[in-house]
Amino acid sequence: MLMPALFISHGTPLVALLDDNYTQALTELGQQLDTPRAIVVMSAHGLSHQGVVEVTASLKPQLIYDFSGFPTALYQLQYPCPGSPQLAQQLVAQLSKAGIPAVLNSQAGLDHGVWIPLLRLFPSAQIPVIQISLPYPSSLAHIFNIGQALQSLRQEGVLLIGSGSATHNLSALNWQNLQSTTDTWATTFMTWLKQKIQQDSLDQLFSYQSLAPYVTKAHPTAEHFYPLFFTLGGKTNRDVAEILTDSYYYGNLSMFSFILKSAG
Ligand code: ZN
Repeated sequence: MLMPALFISHGTPLVALLDDNYTQALTELGQQLDTPRAIVVMSAHGLSHQGVVEVTASLKPQLIYDFSGFPTALYQLQYPCPGSPQLAQQLVAQLSKAGIPAVLNSQAGLDHGVWIPLLRLFPSAQIPVIQISLPYPSSLAHIFNIGQALQSLRQEGVLLIGSGSATHNLSALNWQNLQSTTDTWATTFMTWLKQKIQQDSLDQLFSYQSLAPYVTKAHPTAEHFYPLFFTLGGKTNRDVAEILTDSYYYGNLSMFSFILKSAG
């Protein structure tokens, strides 16, 4: 069983309380996918330093409610999934073999970039989940190499997920209006991004900072964009990209998410 790889724009924590096209697309995807043996997620909210990848290794990972000022209901959500110390060790071994420094972290929990999308995808919370940290700052090539080093896990029934945001400029959001009209700069950036992903133009994606229109507006900092390169690193030659969701919140927060799966 070859599992796909996903890139999920996780948006605002509020999506955990919403019912719309975005949340329904994730729910439907979870129902359509074969049940993974385990899920490995790199999130924009779990950063590590000096290029090292930290791998969660507890049997029962705790949730991190790493957001403030949101409705109380969000802080009461649970996702009591198991971990997998054994698979965590395998990840560290595979990353190390690929020349990527990696360590187990038995204390680390799962941040909201991990558990909020999983609440929709696999609400029963029975599949083991491992979070790997995002080394930041680091090169795009480093993040891509992490995905490549773990690509073979897909053959073993492991679902790889990069969880970030296709656009992410919190100071530009129209916080008053979730369904605000979409800003042109956001759709222009997204048109470029979607085209490069569907054309598999890796060289251009790696040079997005100099090539993409409105890039500093779309990503004043890059940590929410980097998990996309983890997903791309997990791509095989036979994979095609299929768009799962392509909506916006607050006028420019893209919820663009895609799946990489074998063309057959
Ligand atoms: Zn985020």
